[in-house]
Amino acid sequence: MIEDSPFVAAAPVLVPMPAERPYTYAVPAGMRVVPGSIVRVPLGPRQVAGIVWDGAVEKVDAKKLRPIEQVFDCPPIDRAMRRFVDWIAQYTLSPPGMVARMLLRAPEAFDPEPWIEGLQRTFAKPDRMTGARMRVLETAEGGLAWTRSGLAHAAGVSSTVIDGLKAQGVFETVMIPPRPVVAAPDPSYAQPSLMPDQSDAAAMLRTNVAAGAFGVTLLDGVTGSGKTEVYFEAVAAALDRGKQVLILLPEIALTHAFLERFQERFGAKPAEWHSDLPPRMRERVWRQVAEGGVRVVAGARSALFLPFRELGLIVVDEEHDPAYKQEDRVFYNARDMAVVRGHIGGFPVVLASATPSVESRVNASQGRYDRAVLAARFAEAALPDLKTIDMRRAPPARGGFLSPVLLGRMRQTLEKKEQSLLFLNRRGYAPLTLCRVCGHRFGCPVCSAWLVEHRFRGQLVCHHCGHNERRPEACPECGTLDHLVACGPGVERIAEEVVAHFPDARTIVLSSDLMGGVRRLRLELEAIANGEADIVIGTQLVAKGHNFPNMTLVGVVDADLGLANGDPRAAERTFQLLSQVTGRAGRTGKKSLGLLQTFQPDHPVMRAIVSGDAEAFYEREITERERAALPPFGRLAGVIVSAATRAEAEGHARGLRRAAPQASDLFVLGPAEAPLSLIGGRHRFRLLIQGERRADMQGFIRAMLAEGPKIRGSVRVQVDIDPQSFL
Ligand code: ADP
Ligand code: ZN
Repeated sequence: MIEDSPFVAAAPVLVPMPAERPYTYAVPAGMRVVPGSIVRVPLGPRQVAGIVWDGAVEKVDAKKLRPIEQVFDCPPIDRAMRRFVDWIAQYTLSPPGMVARMLLRAPEAFDPEPWIEGLQRTFAKPDRMTGARMRVLETAEGGLAWTRSGLAHAAGVSSTVIDGLKAQGVFETVMIPPRPVVAAPDPSYAQPSLMPDQSDAAAMLRTNVAAGAFGVTLLDGVTGSGKTEVYFEAVAAALDRGKQVLILLPEIALTHAFLERFQERFGAKPAEWHSDLPPRMRERVWRQVAEGGVRVVAGARSALFLPFRELGLIVVDEEHDPAYKQEDRVFYNARDMAVVRGHIGGFPVVLASATPSVESRVNASQGRYDRAVLAARFAEAALPDLKTIDMRRAPPARGGFLSPVLLGRMRQTLEKKEQSLLFLNRRGYAPLTLCRVCGHRFGCPVCSAWLVEHRFRGQLVCHHCGHNERRPEACPECGTLDHLVACGPGVERIAEEVVAHFPDARTIVLSSDLMGGVRRLRLELEAIANGEADIVIGTQLVAKGHNFPNMTLVGVVDADLGLANGDPRAAERTFQLLSQVTGRAGRTGKKSLGLLQTFQPDHPVMRAIVSGDAEAFYEREITERERAALPPFGRLAGVIVSAATRAEAEGHARGLRRAAPQASDLFVLGPAEAPLSLIGGRHRFRLLIQGERRADMQGFIRAMLAEGPKIRGSVRVQVDIDPQSFL
């Protein structure tokens, strides 16, 4: 250290940038930092928040170092979380700085929440009493501090009444600490009486939680068997041990009903965490998780990066759901990372699903995971009867998409005053628009994709980049007026057909692009649950987890839709999605029916669903995977090269292929032009790396990237370990 240097020490700080390692900063005299401290540091011309990291700093001339500007008054990120960040960076081949960035997404939360101004009753009396003043005084009895607006609201008076009382000294200003975002859950608030198999499963989970050690349990139970009820017992056990709990859910639209159920069981709601939360709320949740005030979080995959300090259980609900995979910047699967987090933190993880992923089933059968099974629906509820409709034999009327068989059942359901659900996993009106005169097809100008017509909005929209244009009257190619035709159905078009057949039925369309966003969606879901709709037409949003008590018919408009692409998980995905969708029917004991419109009624997936023999499906699928050495029996990784020109992308991808190291247990396929060869004006090529389970995939790819061509110009390379998408 240099004699007259004002700095006494230096510390490694991980900054939220694509940095491969922490940067070194000087610690000014008198400043105290520990690994995990959140600090403000200069970075180029900016100031950013970073995390003091572990490890010794390299010897650097202290005079050349820039100093840490500030240590935030915030609990440090704990060691388990820091190891988790390093682990994910290593596994996904992402710069650790980019993983840390996911942890630092609530910048205002690094400073303590400010105390708020409140009002408290004094001994003074008002000069004269009015009805409004009386109500205020009665409400404020007991001496608790109130906010001005809170008191006005509770007393049912206008704020000016409060101001008047304050001016007379009847209330004085006091500062009150920030309120908790949620009340504390009470593990013994409303203990359920469980059925025997539910009890067995709950006991198993409770034991695992009480052991306080890492272990994964697959909670495998048909839709409506009470999985939520059962894993709530694991949550209760963790709370009893003074631990924090994280419950991951795949879909925001699901959380609302979930929060209510949680409240019924624990007397208070869990804190929510997802991208739709207002920024101020996000910050408060983040802060209160860090301080330990929040005990349970229900959230989307990004909740894995909340700064828990006493995490003792993670539940991943609908663990098979593809929404757990993030395919942006850091590519990770939250289900898998939850298991890693449990391993690092030394606590149990519960994976729940009615249709577990093949990966989890294999982990259970090979003894790496425990498995708890709930084979039957709760109480008198029976699973729906499932049948295929062979579309070759019972085709729809010209221009329609619904078979007379399905329409007939819908009519009967209406007559019984019960609800029907039609499922089609396609937003909008039609997936393709063409000109009947010249054959022109409307494609996205910057993606290799057709524009989807959204008729309610009067637009043609690209579902990959968001490009949209008005649907013209005339063909832009040949100029002919009024000869554009919509090809194929989306949910809006199915709704049109339904309305034509059942003009008096109350029909609702549900998809993620509903005007009015999540709030509207919640209202619609509630309305459906309350029986305020007769026929619901929806995308996969309606497939997940909802309880619609009066729904007794589910029709799948195109059961073959997911089977066509070259995805190795196509069969599994289709099986899961169709099982979930048809599982919406008959949840309260009424006789119910699921109908699958298909051109391939003999396809193994259709047969497995109709026979209700999930075991046979899994067995067959697992055998197939093993034979093809696909996950979980082998490993896969994708490398996606994109660039402004096709030649650049292809050239770089070929260069990478040539740079691949020699290995006996890993090989490279491609490069091939990606099925989505153009997105947002960028041309895309893919390499696929496949190999044995124990192969060093990360080392292989790292060597390939290091030896390969330098990244130049517009080229971008993205690594996707354990890819879910092959587009
Ligand atoms: P799953 O998550 O397996 O689909 P749920 O936990 O949603 O199943 O349970 C389905 C329905 O049955 C819910 O309405 C739930 O409240 C009810 N239920 C399940 N088990 C019980 C129980 N032991 N006591 C009371 N209600 C139960
Ligand atoms: Zn596009």
